This record gives sequence, C-alpha cells and structure tokens, in this order.
Amino acid sequence: MAETVGFIGLGIMGLPMARNLLRAGFPVVAWNRTASKVALAEGAQAAASPADVAARADIVIVCVTASADVEAVIEGRAGVLEGLRANAILIDMSTISPDVTRRLATRIRERGGDYLDAPVSGGEQGAINGTLSIMVGGEASTLERARPVFEAMGRRITLCGPVGAGQTVKLCNQIAVCLNNLAMVEALVFCQQSGVDPAVMIEAISAGAAGSWQISNLAAKIVARDFAPGFKVSLQQKDLRLALEAAEAVHAPLAGVSLVHQLLGVVEGRHGGDVGTQALVRALESLTGVEVGGAR
Ligand code: NAP
Repeated sequence: MAETVGFIGLGIMGLPMARNLLRAGFPVVAWNRTASKVALAEGAQAAASPADVAARADIVIVCVTASADVEAVIEGRAGVLEGLRANAILIDMSTISPDVTRRLATRIRERGGDYLDAPVSGGEQGAINGTLSIMVGGEASTLERARPVFEAMGRRITLCGPVGAGQTVKLCNQIAVCLNNLAMVEALVFCQQSGVDPAVMIEAISAGAAGSWQISNLAAKIVARDFAPGFKVSLQQKDLRLALEAAEAVHAPLAGVSLVHQLLGVVEGRHGGDVGTQALVRALESLTGVEVGGAR
C-alpha cells in the first residue's frame, strides 16, 4: 500500500504538488497556516498542526517560504518534531539555507527519522504539470524509498550529494536563472533603444545560441507589459541573499548575482516584491527612460 504523505504548506507550489500526490493515489494529510486552503486539495485529510501531520504520515513534505518558516513548522510549538514517527522521512521542498538544512537534518535524525532536502525548479506550471526538476540532498537509500513520491511531482530527480547538496544545487539554479533574466532584459532594452521591434528580436534569437527559458517564457510578457508573478521578486531576492551568503562562506565570486540583487532591490522599492521577476526590466527602463514595447 502507498505510504501516507503529510503535506505542510499549500501555497503556489505546494497546492498543485499535493494535488498530484492525491492523483497518483497517495493518501495525503495536509496542514496549512491559513487553514481554509486545505479544502482546495480535494481528497486530502485536514490535520490540526504540523505535529498532527507528522503523527499521521510516513513521509512528511514541507513547502513553505524561507529558512525561518521551515524552522517554525519543524521545531516550533506543535511542530513536526513533536509528532514525528520513527522511520519517517522529512522532505523539505522549500528553497532555504544549506546550513539551516544540515542543522534541521540532525534534529530529525536525533528523533529517529531521515531527512532529504529537495528544492525544486520549474515554477508553478511545472508544479501543476508534475514536471518539476527536483534536486535532492541526502542518503541514496532514503531517496529510493521516497522516489515514488517524487515521481508524482517531478520529471527529473537528481541526487546531488549529502544533506544540503540539494539546496546548494538549487542556489546554482538561481544563479543561472537570474543572470539569464538579466541577459534577456538587457537585450530587450537595447533593442527598444535601437529602434527595432523587440517582439521580432525575441522570435529571431529564441531558437539560436541565445535561447533560454527566460527568452521563451518571460520576454513576451514584458512586451505585453504583464508583470504578474510566476516567480515573485521577493522570493528571487530571498534566494539571491542565500546564494550570496553561501558564496561568502566559500569565497566564490558571485559578481553577476550581486548586480541583479541590487537592481531587483530598486524594483522592489518602486513596485513592491509581489511582481514577477521579469520586472527586472523596470530597473533598466528607469535608467534609460525607454519602455520595452512602448513608443520608440
Ligand atoms: P507561497 O505561494 O507564498 O506559499 C508559501 C506557503 O508557506 C503558504 O502555504 C504559507 O502559508 C506557508 N508559510 C509561510 N510561512 C509560514 C510559516 N512561518 N508557518 C507556516 N506556514 C508558512 O510560496 P511558493 O511560491 O509556493 O513557494 C514555496 C517555496 O518554494 C519557497 O521556498 C520558494 O522559494 C520555492 N519555489 C517557488 C517557486 C515558484 O515559482 N513559486 C519555484 C521554485 C521554488 P499561508 O497560506 O498561510 O500564507
């Protein structure tokens, strides 16, 4: 029989991930801070607290916002540690600090459980379609036990190394993502300033060596002045902060990431953190006075 999966955090990512687990036939016990959201995962049993989820599940998934939030649902009052079953696996699918991850894994192991960090890439659409890329840190044997659960949510499942390595690889993902985003918005602003139609430019370069997920998915949104979030600037900034902190510890030169982090700070100041990351273009637009897709 399928193991019972506990799910903590039914946000933009967590809700469709939990729905895919239900669709794949897993019994799901769910808790969300805003309790009303649990009803959106039709078929899931509602739990009273993270501790209650842990007491009723073999595998407990956490998908909340930041390091402090994962700490709160695991170590806080009525947290996972208060209810964890022996031999349970805790899987944290949030993007958080590799150091905090290693500390939390120790606490879970002290209680007789196993821990996997398993942050994801692929965005809301990947979560809905069950095509996430899942970057796992932990023991190979623990991953093998959890594999059917991951296969219900993702397409590429990679064991990156010991606990914390999944978060490190996710930060690498964010480094590449934010610099691809910068490359895309620089090309758009330059194109606009040079008097060429940005939509034509996107069509021309997307299939060649410059092609990227950002050019294929975000550039047209900018031309249409659509700044609704797939991935919010506030979450990108959280991830870039994590990358800069981790890089400082190993003396890695994340010069490009520092630049994007500063530019997104300007966007946050002027437009708030809830806009999508394609709003990076607005920092360059305010420097140049042009608007991509606007009058040339
Ligand atoms: P979201 O829509 O803002 O949802 C966050 C979830 O965490 C909500 O269920 C929220 O509960 C819960 N939460 C936050 N702080 C909490 C706390 N202190 N205690 C209990 N619950 C708490 O965020 P998301 O987009 O799903 O992102 C979740 C994680 O996935 C983040 O680490 C993010 O970086 C990562 N991620 C996101 C994307 C993306 O495209 N969105 C892609 C890859 C990875 P409420 O409902 O009560 O607010």
